[in-house]
Amino acid sequence: MNSQIYKLALLSKIDDELDERKEEFGDLPEKLKNIKIKFEEAKKRLEESEQILSDNKKFAANAKVKLKALKEKEDKLSKQQFLVRNNKEFDAITKEIENIRDEYSKLSTELRTTGIKEENLTAKIDEQKEEVKNVESDYEEAKEEFNTITNDQDEDVKRLVKRRKDTLKKINKEFIKEYNRIRDHTHDAAVRIKRNSCSGCFSSIPPQKIVEIRNDLEMIFTCENCGRILYPEDIVIGDDEIFG
Ligand SMILES: [Zn+2]
Repeated sequence: MNSQIYKLALLSKIDDELDERKEEFGDLPEKLKNIKIKFEEAKKRLEESEQILSDNKKFAANAKVKLKALKEKEDKLSKQQFLVRNNKEFDAITKEIENIRDEYSKLSTELRTTGIKEENLTAKIDEQKEEVKNVESDYEEAKEEFNTITNDQDEDVKRLVKRRKDTLKKINKEFIKEYNRIRDHTHDAAVRIKRNSCSGCFSSIPPQKIVEIRNDLEMIFTCENCGRILYPEDIVIGDDEIFG
């Protein structure tokens, strides 16, 4: 029970259990990540529109004040025109009034455009708000699904993670390195010999090798066909061992 090969077999079984729990999530973590990005983007688009609308409103308010001032200036100049002493002064005031009217007309046109823009923006903002709401509800739903699975697994996963940590401490570092290297290619890095065959790839193992494996439990033997670590048939890891 204290041999290195037993510990590796145990580690492999613990990892199997952890993998299984991870699989229960399916594509949910990926889905959750994507919905979150979509949610952030939708919020950003809405904020941008709201900013433009606010700038637009500020511009319109300023334009109204400016138009009023221009109108007042024009009225004042019109009155002055009656009091001029010569043609030169009259022409000068006429020119000034023309300039004011030009400015007034340009600004009025801009203000009308702003009004149309505001209407369009308001409609767009309503749509964007709806979109944010929909994506948010998708996000909450996926999150809840995720949390439900997490909560269901929580106790088991905690025990498995602890058991894994404790087991790792008792395994030779070189063996762990080898185990991890194999695990990069296949999820079950250590497998039991079953009916004289590797239970990972089902290829048969020479009897001589089986004897060696059985006799030296402090050594790693790997399957010649698939490269997985092999452990003797009589090492059977039960749930009570996996969960500690
Ligand atoms: Zn094999």
